[in-house]
Amino acid sequence: MKRLGILFVVSGPSGAGKGTVLGKVRGEVEGLSMSISATTREPRTGETDGVDYWFCSKNQFQEMINNKEFLEYIEKFDNFYGTPKAPVEKLLKEGSDVILEIETLGAVNVRTLFPEAVLIFITPQSYDELKRRLDKRGSETDEAKALRLKIALSELSSVGDYDYIAINNDVRDCINTIKAIILAERNKRYRYSNLVEELTTRTNKK
Ligand code: 5GP
Repeated sequence: MKRLGILFVVSGPSGAGKGTVLGKVRGEVEGLSMSISATTREPRTGETDGVDYWFCSKNQFQEMINNKEFLEYIEKFDNFYGTPKAPVEKLLKEGSDVILEIETLGAVNVRTLFPEAVLIFITPQSYDELKRRLDKRGSETDEAKALRLKIALSELSSVGDYDYIAINNDVRDCINTIKAIILAERNKRYRYSNLVEELTTRTNKK
């Protein structure tokens, strides 16, 4: 039965494990696509253009802004990140569900454009655990660590804008939580309005 795709928006602080969890979810759930964002930041080791991001120059990004090619975009750490609009709209129209892994400001902007989008927040089980994970990352200076924590805390403060929370204490549990959310959302009655109408009309005719 044909239905429009569902737009899932996933955010969470750095250290929440979004990348690992979403990579697994995508491999285990049929009919799910990840949106690939454009960014002006440099690729990190192991990242591939067209897979992790569309890496582009600031001029190219600005041109895309001028051409209204983004669903939403933000500037962060002196770099730009944006969700290209056309591929997302095409996938949704074709009935494929789409995941945007974006930060919290972008998520709120998407909700304004797509009120029916489903917002999921991935988080460690406590502040202490988040701090522990961030402390473990890299051999940064105390200043850099403090900044990272500050940014993570500001992301955490947006949790009230989200429909669901997926706690990432155990990676497998978190993957299963997100899969359960996707399954439940796919089976909401209003997504089957034609079927519901057909079934209820027959009942009334009997
Ligand atoms: P990173 O540079 O670590 O890959 O990403 C930095 C932040 O930018 C992450 O929180 C990530 O979710 C967010 N991000 C990535 N792509 C987009 C996008 O297209 N739009 C918005 N609003 N945020 C994005």
